[in-house]
Amino acid sequence: MDRREFIQALCLATAGICVSGSVIQAGNDKRFITEARFYEKLSDNSIRCLICPRQCIVSPGGRGFCRVRENDDGKYFSLVYGRVCTYHIDPIEKKPLFHFLPGTTAFSIATAGCNLGCKFCQNWEISQQRPEDIDAVNLPPKKVAGVAEKYKCPTIAYTYNEPTIFFEFMVDCALEGKKKKIRSVMISAGYINKQPLLQLIKALDAIKIDLKGFRDDFYSQICLGSLKPVLDTIVTIKEHGRWLEIVNLVIPTLNDDPKDIEKMCKWIIDNVGDDVPIHFTRFYPTYKLKNLPVTPVASVEKARDIALSKGIKFAYVGNVPIGHPGESTYCPSCHKRIIDRWGYSIRSIRLKDGKCEYCGEPIPGIWS
Ligand code: SF4
Repeated sequence: MDRREFIQALCLATAGICVSGSVIQAGNDKRFITEARFYEKLSDNSIRCLICPRQCIVSPGGRGFCRVRENDDGKYFSLVYGRVCTYHIDPIEKKPLFHFLPGTTAFSIATAGCNLGCKFCQNWEISQQRPEDIDAVNLPPKKVAGVAEKYKCPTIAYTYNEPTIFFEFMVDCALEGKKKKIRSVMISAGYINKQPLLQLIKALDAIKIDLKGFRDDFYSQICLGSLKPVLDTIVTIKEHGRWLEIVNLVIPTLNDDPKDIEKMCKWIIDNVGDDVPIHFTRFYPTYKLKNLPVTPVASVEKARDIALSKGIKFAYVGNVPIGHPGESTYCPSCHKRIIDRWGYSIRSIRLKDGKCEYCGEPIPGIWS
């Protein structure tokens, strides 16, 4: 083990997880290549990728926008199958998923790459990289499920970068997890085409979607994407009965107009109902938006108030000082606090068989 490998191994050990196998240093590595499952062949050995709305047309030798899919002479390949550059055991509350096995942990994994280009990305050091430019570990799906089992995580989370770009790897991890009764959740921007989404919905147990704003110009200028496909994804997830939570990162001056937040809440109620939890979280200056201030706590509190006043039953704030009452869950009927959160910890749960312990109101979620 050279010095670089030693330092990385030390980092992984301090993350509290030990996986056998050596660190894969940056560089090309054929082990992580698998044929893509959604693409079509065009003339001249070009292909059209069908995973996400970009529908990249890729010439032989080229890659899609997300940097992790490559055309090899008319066949299209994912380059990140098992090439895990970040992994950690996180509280499920950190995703955030508040109505899904509260107080449990998720074995959380990521690869390089992303199909968006958000200027505020917290994880740009992995999301905006090619796989060969960052170190990784070799974690094929069986091993991912095995590590989750070893560390008693009831859930595998696909998170940190955009998981739809490692679609094949994610689906296979979820299927391996199922064999061990380990659930799978995707933490995603929802920028995906319907056919791959339908396959994912079958494999996953819950999905958290970042609804990054409610204006198309915000999506095009700040995220390099578009709003409509994300809204379609949200509706499809709900229609197919998968557990869904929505997060909106509130960024000063860019997407914090109360009128837009009102419109977003109304759209949520009209299209997926009033019982889909929504989290308004604070932005911290990073990546290409270091010029903006931190979101004031009052802004996310105001967004939560708007959501509640419009009729959303479960609205939360996030990235706020520990102990904020807006991080707890309240019964929409008797208004008592039924899940008391302290940061990522749970202080008490007043639910019995999925119902409020005080008044018997059913509380939507996956509780056991
Ligand atoms: S998944 Fe990647 S290659 Fe495929 S369409 Fe989206 S950005 Fe392009």
